[in-house]
Amino acid sequence: MKNNKVCPKCQSSNIVRFDGFHGAYGTGNYVQTSFSSYVIVHRYICCDCGFAEEWIDKEDIEKVANSKKAKR
Ligand SMILES: [Zn+2]
Repeated sequence: MKNNKVCPKCQSSNIVRFDGFHGAYGTGNYVQTSFSSYVIVHRYICCDCGFAEEWIDKEDIEKVANSKKAKR
């Protein structure tokens, strides 16, 4: 969905992206990886069926993988 811009549920190509952000008072769409660090999560949403996918940027994957808050 992120890479080919096609919905995996209904095959629509009517996909929009909402950039994640980290705002005051816990607003926004992000993952807290430690007390003082977080990674932003972006959403891709199909405008035909409403299916939504969430992605973090490639450069943030290491932060998530090394987070002590991550459960395995
Ligand atoms: Zn769809």
